[in-house]
Amino acid sequence: MYKKKYFSHAVFFFLCAVLLAGCGVSRRSVIDYGKLASESFKLDRKQYFALPAVCSYYNLTWEWDGFTRIITLKNSSLDMKMYPGSTLILVNNRVENLDAPVQVYQGMIIVPESFVRFFAEEKKSAPPPQRKGGGYSIKKIVIDAGHGGKDPGAVGFGVQEKDVNLDIAKRLKSELEKSGVQVLLTRETDIFHPLQKRADIANAAHADFFVCVHANAATTASASGFEAYYLSTEHDDFSKAVQIRENAVLSFEDSTAFAASEGLNATLWDMMLSENRIESIEMANTIARGLNNILKLKTRHVSGAMFYVLKGARMPAVLLEVGYLSNPTEATHLNNGYYRQMLAEAIASGIISYKQEFELNNGFSK
Ligand SMILES: [Zn+2]
Repeated sequence: MYKKKYFSHAVFFFLCAVLLAGCGVSRRSVIDYGKLASESFKLDRKQYFALPAVCSYYNLTWEWDGFTRIITLKNSSLDMKMYPGSTLILVNNRVENLDAPVQVYQGMIIVPESFVRFFAEEKKSAPPPQRKGGGYSIKKIVIDAGHGGKDPGAVGFGVQEKDVNLDIAKRLKSELEKSGVQVLLTRETDIFHPLQKRADIANAAHADFFVCVHANAATTASASGFEAYYLSTEHDDFSKAVQIRENAVLSFEDSTAFAASEGLNATLWDMMLSENRIESIEMANTIARGLNNILKLKTRHVSGAMFYVLKGARMPAVLLEVGYLSNPTEATHLNNGYYRQMLAEAIASGIISYKQEFELNNGFSK
């Protein structure tokens, strides 16, 4: 009986010791801002710091573009962009969310404590440099098989686009994996995903590239060929027609879902667009070249268009239209497993040559 009591006391003291040790750990994790602490103040119940003080303390250069209102900060390994009024910042081309917005207060740019943590936590919270000089590589690609479930996409001669897309996406995955690229599919079965969810999967995976696979349709049976698109606000009439068709999936979705989940404001999107644009255009062209070289498939179009699924992706992204289901010959081809395999191999070869060229140049941007 006594023994039992002593034992329960021992357990109690042991638990207290564990709890105290735990408190010690959390106390150590409190950030020491050094001299900078005296520059902080409270606004809207959040701790804020004056941006010039943060920059001089952590050795960052900063610029404020009075026209676009974009603030750019740099040091040897970081490139950051922020916008007053927004909680979102770009850190080496990745979007990070602050717990409070960057603000202009009494004529001074101020940043919340969560921003200062990037530097104070000894780079722990900052993602590794992705750009020139940082040994940039394409390790992970997310492939999105367009449409699925209740949304068949284009249908021609009994062939449904959603099935063609999924089969090519799976074959492309296995081809890319042979070259050591990690690949994730947004869907592996015949299920419906809203457009934003597809991009969200790529964002959550921190993919280096996002590739959307689609098949096309036109009102004229003679239309044929391969097309590659990157995100752009500028488009010609031809791209616009494809864009309207591929964005039509939004009618299957809750119309407010995209706007609500979008999160980023227009300026941030513009920044993302220009940051990823060169990579996206290069990838679209290299894949089209791969198709031409291997399959001798006519490239009908490489251009920009405003595809919602690309708009949600926070990394370079392309949308491929692998052929026309409204064309009897191409529909027959696309319904053939061997042809889809050839197509997947040709697309993979384009992606791999892009990857090699990209890694050799340490990125194309800047
Ligand atoms: Zn489609």
